[in-house]
Formats: sequence, structure tokens, C-alpha cells
Amino acid sequence: MPHQSPISPGYSWYEATVGDRPERPALDGDLRTDVVIIGGGFTGLSAAAHLAKAGVDVALVEAHRFGDGASGRNGGQLGTGQRAWAEELEAEYGYTRAKALFELAEEAKAHLFDFAAANAIEIDFMPGQMSVVHKKRYLKHYEAHAEIMGTRFGYPHVTYMDALETARRLGSERYFGGVRDTGTGHIHPMKLVIGTARVAAAAGAKLFENTRSTAIASNGGNVTVSTAKGTITAKKCLIAVNAYGGALEPVSAAHVMPIGSFIGATVPLGGDSPILPGGESVDDSRFVVRYFRRSKDGRLLFGGREVYAVDDPKDIPQQIRRQIIELYPALKDVEITHAWGGYVGITMPRKPFVREVMPNVISAGGYSGHGVMLSNFVGKLYAETIAGNRDRLKLLEDLKIPAFPGGSRLRAPLLFLALNWFALRDRI
Ligand SMILES: Cc1cc2nc3c(=O)[nH]c(=O)nc-3n(C[C@H](O)[C@H](O)[C@H](O)COP(=O)(O)OP(=O)(O)OC[C@H]3O[C@@H](n4cnc5c(N)ncnc54)[C@H](O)[C@@H]3O)c2cc1C
Repeated sequence: MPHQSPISPGYSWYEATVGDRPERPALDGDLRTDVVIIGGGFTGLSAAAHLAKAGVDVALVEAHRFGDGASGRNGGQLGTGQRAWAEELEAEYGYTRAKALFELAEEAKAHLFDFAAANAIEIDFMPGQMSVVHKKRYLKHYEAHAEIMGTRFGYPHVTYMDALETARRLGSERYFGGVRDTGTGHIHPMKLVIGTARVAAAAGAKLFENTRSTAIASNGGNVTVSTAKGTITAKKCLIAVNAYGGALEPVSAAHVMPIGSFIGATVPLGGDSPILPGGESVDDSRFVVRYFRRSKDGRLLFGGREVYAVDDPKDIPQQIRRQIIELYPALKDVEITHAWGGYVGITMPRKPFVREVMPNVISAGGYSGHGVMLSNFVGKLYAETIAGNRDRLKLLEDLKIPAFPGGSRLRAPLLFLALNWFALRDRI
């Protein structure tokens, strides 16, 4: 019987193909450590691995299984830079800060590859990423972006594609053009989750699954994390629950909002399929973004969202099929073997949320659909902070992230209305 994530709908192709997924015990009793981490996705596990490797006594609790949140269920795309383009950051913060944020993201990318290679984690990397335009009037921004990346930010890997090249590389004529980035690519995210947990455990981190933190208290230099069957008391705490935290900690909940996003995997399409012959991943210019790629075994993994609620995993294949057919009518009857979803943690300005929310307690998340490489790196930056160097984490802590309006009762309905509005705008 395949494992069904109790917190995210559907059984993912990633779970089906990750291989060995060793189960960790639940916490039973009281523990004392230097650092306690809540959340077993990329942020938490990467922090645990780096801390344990540096000799820090660290324990981590995960409410379900590692990777059951966004980290084991995402599109696997490693976007370059931050979620906001470097030129947008420059307009907001000036060149020096924008360049520092761009370089931080490039380090995040390098960190992901280096960490996987150094620890022999097979992540099924495939090179190439394309961002494509669904409205003609956006083209000039994409053309300028390719130029700016090379000349102003020293990143020569982005090239502009006209409509013809885009159609050839996608195997679809639905888009007007876009950019192609040969300096990045896409991965099997669950393999990275499980590999990182293995590294953390081997380095001595105490890892607990099926252990939900129910409360966090920070008093007199100690932080105590409570769970159903025990407590962990530490000097420092990292909250790494992203979109899955519910009401655990109110400041994080006010700043990071969950949005459902859904993915379907088709049967392998075969080597002669005209769809994405170069193997790149793709995202498009919609606000409610569509993202897709071929897997190592030739499937089309197609992600997106319709704005109405999808409560039943059985709805996901229909929803995904509708979107696939718009691009690839020949796939109207293709078999969708796996369909699943997860919650993306977004912030108001679509930039990461990193903040000390109580004394000695840092919360990190809200990567806004751009967290595969950033969240792993934030785990490393947190470990650096514990070692006494907070400079690089500070670059993210200093980003101004307002809370969502509406308070805890109205936040979700207001966001739903806003999403509907943006989805409508995507269509006109
Ligand atoms: C469908 C989908 C597609 C995406 N596509 C991409 C993409 O292509 N590229 C990209 O860069 N990003 C993408 N993202 C975003 C990316 O996956 C996330 O930014 C990243 O995984 C965040 O990792 P995290 O560790 O911070 O959070 P998560 O992986 O969500 O981990 C949080 C963990 O905390 C646990 N938790 C919550 N509450 C508690 C508690 N009280 N006690 C204990 N544990 C708790 C949860 O069970 C969960 O496992 C996508 C996300 C989704 C959902």
C-alpha cells in the first residue's frame, strides 16, 4: 500500500520512485539539545545536516514523514536568482543590494549541487530551464531580462527565444517567446529530502517523524518545544514549517500563506516525442503559474492550479489534463499515472520570510514557489548563524515582509479573492 501523505492530497510520482525511505521514530520522552528544529522539509533537514556536521547537538521533529510538505512534492525547478528578477530588486533596493541577493541565490544553487555531490545523493539533475510568455506584451521585458542578466549581473547563461525557437523547444505553439537559462535545471526533490535526512542522521542529528510540535515557549535563554509524548529543550530553535504550520506560531502564520498547487505525471512519452526534446523545465508568465518538465524516464510532469478549491485528489488529473491539452492537444487521452498537490508558502511581496519571532527562535519559509534551492541554503545559513556568523542570513532577515491583511479569520478568504482576480487577469 503506497504511503498517502495525510497533509497533502494525492500519491506523488516522487514517492513512488524515491526508493528506500527509512522511517524515523516518534519522540517519546524529554530531551535536551543545543538546537531544536521543527519541520522536516528542505529548510529543517538541511539545517540539521549542517549543524550536526559542525558538531552541534541538534534534534528535529516532523509532524508526518520527511518530504510530506512542499519539499517532497514540488516541481523540482531550480530557478536562477530570487523569485523577483534581479532588475526588479535593483529598482527596489539599488544595485549593490540586488547584486548581493542575486549572488546569494547563485551560492544557493552551487550549494545544492555541491551538497548532493559531496554526500553521494542522486538527485536526477537535468539541465536547462525556460520561462515563457503567454501574453505578447510581456516579450520586451523578457528580451531585456536576458540582456540585463549578462551585462549587469554577470550571468551569461540566459538567452532570448523568439516564437519560433520557443515552439521548437517546447513542442507547442501556445507561447509568444521567452528566455532559456542553461545555467540551471531541475531535480527529483524527494531524493534530495531523503538523502539530506540520511546525511543529518549519519552526522548525529536526532530525527523524529510523526511528532507534531504543539507549542513553543521561550523563557530565560531556553526554548521548549512540546509534543504529544515529550518535550525538547534547547538554547535555540528553528521553525521550518513553511506553509504547513497552521496556528503553531502566530507571526509566521500571519506572514506565510499556503496556496495549493497541483501536479500530474503522465506515462513515459517515448524518446521520439516532440515535447521538450531538449529536456528543459518550463514555467510561464501567468501569475497563477504553470510549470512543466520531462522526468528522467520521459514522463511529462505538469503543474499548475485552477483557482477553485480542489479537495479531492480525484479532481487533480482532470484539472491537470485540461491545462495539458491547451498546450499539447495530442495528449488529450494520455494516461496520467500519478496526481498530487502541496501547499506553496507565499508572502505578500513574494520574497522569503526569515525572522526572529521570539528570543532565540528564528522562523524561515515563504519562498513563494522559489524554495527548492533557497530553502536548502537557508538551512546552511542558519547553521552559520549558530556558529556565530549571521551576516548572510541577515540579507534575508532585512527584507521587508508585511503581514497579509485580514487577521487570522479573513486572511485566507481575501487571498482567495485576490487569486481569482489574478487568474482572471491571466486570461485577458
Ligand atoms: C506543488 C508545488 C510545486 C512547487 N514547485 C517548486 C519549484 O518547481 N521550484 C521551487 O523552487 N519551489 C517550488 N515549490 C516550493 C518549494 O517546494 C518550497 O519552497 C520548499 O520545499 C520549502 O521547504 P520547507 O522545508 O521550508 O517547507 P516544507 O517542505 O513544506 O516542510 C515543512 C514541514 O513542516 C512540517 N510541520 C508543519 N507543522 C509542524 C509541526 N507543528 N510540528 C512538526 N512538523 C511540522 C510539515 O509536515 C512539513 O513536512 C513548490 C511547492 C509546491 C507545493
